[in-house]
Amino acid sequence: MNKITLYGADWCPDCRRAKSYLKDNNITFEFVDVDLDKEATAKVETINNGKRIIPTVIINNKPYTNPNNAKLASILGINPEGQLTLFGADWCPDCRRAKSYLNDNGVKFLFIDVDKHDWATAKVEEINNGKRIIPTILLNEVPYTNPDNAKLKELLNIDTNKEHKVYDSIIIGGGAAGLTTSIYAQRDRFNTLILEKKNIGGNAFLTEKIENYPGFTEISGPKLMERMEHQAKTYGAEIKTGEEVSNIERKGELFELTTIMGTYLTKTVVLSTGSTYRKLGIPNEGDLIGSGVHFCATCDGAFYRDKEVVVIGGGNSALEEGIFLAGFCKTVKIINRSAEFKASKTYIEKLNSIDNIEVYTDNTPISFTKNDKNLFKGIIVKDNKTEEEKEITADGAFIFIGLIPNTKSFKGLVDLNNQGFITTKNLAETSVKGIFAAGDCREGAIAQVAAATGEGVLASYGIRNFLK
Ligand SMILES: Cc1cc2nc3c(=O)[nH]c(=O)nc-3n(C[C@H](O)[C@H](O)[C@H](O)COP(=O)(O)OP(=O)(O)OC[C@H]3O[C@@H](n4cnc5c(N)ncnc54)[C@H](O)[C@@H]3O)c2cc1C
Repeated sequence: MNKITLYGADWCPDCRRAKSYLKDNNITFEFVDVDLDKEATAKVETINNGKRIIPTVIINNKPYTNPNNAKLASILGINPEGQLTLFGADWCPDCRRAKSYLNDNGVKFLFIDVDKHDWATAKVEEINNGKRIIPTILLNEVPYTNPDNAKLKELLNIDTNKEHKVYDSIIIGGGAAGLTTSIYAQRDRFNTLILEKKNIGGNAFLTEKIENYPGFTEISGPKLMERMEHQAKTYGAEIKTGEEVSNIERKGELFELTTIMGTYLTKTVVLSTGSTYRKLGIPNEGDLIGSGVHFCATCDGAFYRDKEVVVIGGGNSALEEGIFLAGFCKTVKIINRSAEFKASKTYIEKLNSIDNIEVYTDNTPISFTKNDKNLFKGIIVKDNKTEEEKEITADGAFIFIGLIPNTKSFKGLVDLNNQGFITTKNLAETSVKGIFAAGDCREGAIAQVAAATGEGVLASYGIRNFLK
């Protein structure tokens, strides 16, 4: 067994990092606090030519000055192939995407949950100039911020040149609509591939609580979507995440789909790409996205525990997410451009009964503000009646002002309405035979999980009729 002594102090972030790393890997060690032990300080100074550098770690009588985790791993044989460390969190969609890509391709890596280690959060901030961006990976000690799958493929020399198979159906988008199409089509013995640009689950994965999906009085979005994914896989669906379809072309009887990873051939296509959050388009918004300005309370709300946030919007999503944030934030200030909320009465009533929610209706957002460190400070709003502008300060902001259909890549391929939603008839048929549409990207969609699953069923019947 290795004999390890770690000389350090509680206030030293690198000492905490090294301690956590050893503990996480079940390595036994002795910790000596140099602040409490003069002899230990002298020892550290002797090892480091008179300098007090901590942590200093002695492993089997050999000293190491401030060894990073990769060094500790290599000395102690932890994660031996693990030149790759992935800093992330379970709630972060891109972390899950990167983890599943690495796992799918048999790449060994060390996952460090930033929620469990404050040294890891500090490390991520140090790499990203103060921003908490995850996933951040360290490959042979070189950092990469949120690499997409193509970048991971390039960095790790992953060979994805597999035989060109023809699918009965390729489903673009792994939300409720896409997963349901796949479940039904697989049970009809059609082979399907789901291509998902981010992670399986779509928008429903982002919501903390779903109370209106039949069969469940209450279920978390991630849990519901994981069940759908599991069901699709059980019936044999193939799923690839981190693959955005950028082009669809006819190739004789087939369609060829292009993603950053290559091309795929299929007899039918289902467009189930959902919708995206609308931005305010005000100054400083772009700069602050991800570090002060957010669109998903379930994803980023945890960063604001016991802090103050503003929520912008007045519909169901804004109020639902504002109420969710009020559960653990100190204060939630809801800013609504109109004098009245558009949300349902249930939400408005709930909102009024919560003490730590402040409401600013009839106020137009003008610009986000930054402090002298260039970090988020607040938002300037204009009172629509008095035209008076004022700054509302907070620690972060969440924007919930509607959705834009994710159909840009299909413009010119299938008919879209003025707002970009895909127009359909009969069994989810688009203007192109063999291409179907389902869910929130479709004109007239109800934008509810149950509705999206129903549309997925229709698309699967469309596939069945077409392939017959
Ligand atoms: C905050 C919030 C709370 C909600 N709460 C509820 C609720 O309580 N109850 C309820 O019923 N509904 C709720 N909804 C609505 C519900 O989530 C949606 O109606 C549902 O997710 C729509 O499913 P979908 O499959 O059509 O689209 P999405 O869920 O949006 O899935 C589309 C998928 O396609 C992927 N994609 C997009 N473009 C491409 C491309 N080019 N290539 C590959 N993949 C692509 C996206 O990444 C996404 O994963 C909520 C929505 C939000 C945003």
